[in-house]
Amino acid sequence: MKIVDATTDLCSNHWDVYRKVKDTYSLWSAAYGSLTTEDFLKQLVALPETGVHAREIAEFLIRNPERWK
Ligand SMILES: [Zn+2]
Repeated sequence: MKIVDATTDLCSNHWDVYRKVKDTYSLWSAAYGSLTTEDFLKQLVALPETGVHAREIAEFLIRNPERWK
């Protein structure tokens, strides 16, 4: 599934990845001390080992920060 815009609901695969991305943020922010969600998402996108779904979620959340809840 391609994420088109903020009004598009995520499919279950993307929701699973969304939750994993948020779990990863919790780990990273604890390790770094302070890390904004935007900086975290940009680093995630830049990592070569980030999967396609996680990359799509990260780019989606960079464009739609209000969806980070
Ligand atoms: Zn999907």
